[in-house]
Amino acid sequence: PRTALTLLGLGDMGTALARTWLAAGHRLTVWNRTAAKAGPLAALGAAVAATPAEAVAANRLVVVCLLDDASVGSALDGIDLTGKDLVNLTTGTPAEGRARATWAKERGARFVDAGIMATPSMIGAPEAGGYVFYSGSRGLFDTHRAVLEVPAGARFTGEDPGHAALHDVALLSAMYGLFAGVSHAYALIEGEDISPKDLAPLLSEWLGAMGFFVGNAAERLSSRDFTTGVVSNLAMQVAATGTLVRTAQEQGVSAELISPYLELMARRLAADPAAHGVEDTAGAITLLRRPDRGR
Ligand code: NDP
Repeated sequence: PRTALTLLGLGDMGTALARTWLAAGHRLTVWNRTAAKAGPLAALGAAVAATPAEAVAANRLVVVCLLDDASVGSALDGIDLTGKDLVNLTTGTPAEGRARATWAKERGARFVDAGIMATPSMIGAPEAGGYVFYSGSRGLFDTHRAVLEVPAGARFTGEDPGHAALHDVALLSAMYGLFAGVSHAYALIEGEDISPKDLAPLLSEWLGAMGFFVGNAAERLSSRDFTTGVVSNLAMQVAATGTLVRTAQEQGVSAELISPYLELMARRLAADPAAHGVEDTAGAITLLRRPDRGR
């Protein structure tokens, strides 16, 4: 069925979203701070609002995709949100998502926060595998699920409005750790008679094989048993990783991208060599959270 909805924000991501809703036959009202960006969408059938207030007034479902949480606050400042269903696709932190949820509730709106796991080119292309995390009002999500799934798949992560951002940031953080390791590997071979193109398939294959760590660490964190079924014990790994640092030195490459993790493993071992030496590396995760912080 055709749904009427409003979209605030026509940057790269907002424009990609708008195109998929229009292509699917939904009735879309758009607003963007720089009005010129709405032109091509108007040609595709979008109604263009002159102000955020006008855009919000047009429909019950209001989707926001702006630069950051501050721009959401400034665009919606002073606007009547009574009875609105507000979906925030703007990237933010969990605390920003929770604060925005409280802010929306105080203004009479239902609210879900979201984290987009896709680039604009993956929007409207299900085969690309992009999707969006949502959290907050289950009622809002259930009401609008079908239209929200037009641009990309939807995964609801619970009613805590901070959890979509938390899932988003957890995945992105792991991704940057992977990028860091791959960057270090390429730096090591630079200037040698080894082509990055020859290393690439070996890296992909190795990282795929080492992906077992994801499930393995989850198992250990859940059971709090870091010792059962260990194949590479921490005492050995800490001794062996000295080779990584020395090789970086020999190659004239900074170890800055990998040394924090190696140091964390060494710290875990040093805290109790007899107990932690027979674990694997997942126990090091327990050192990361500050005891005086978090929820
Ligand atoms: P762009 O930089 O292309 O667009 C930013 C948008 O925010 C524009 O519509 C801009 O308006 C608007 N904006 C910025 N500041 C303000 C303000 N103070 N008041 C009102 N409007 C403002 O970013 P994207 O479209 O790529 O990203 C939008 C959101 O989507 C971000 O939160 C981003 O993190 C998230 N996202 C983006 C991904 C990507 O790959 N692009 C991937 C996943 C999430 P104007 O046109 O007037 O400048």
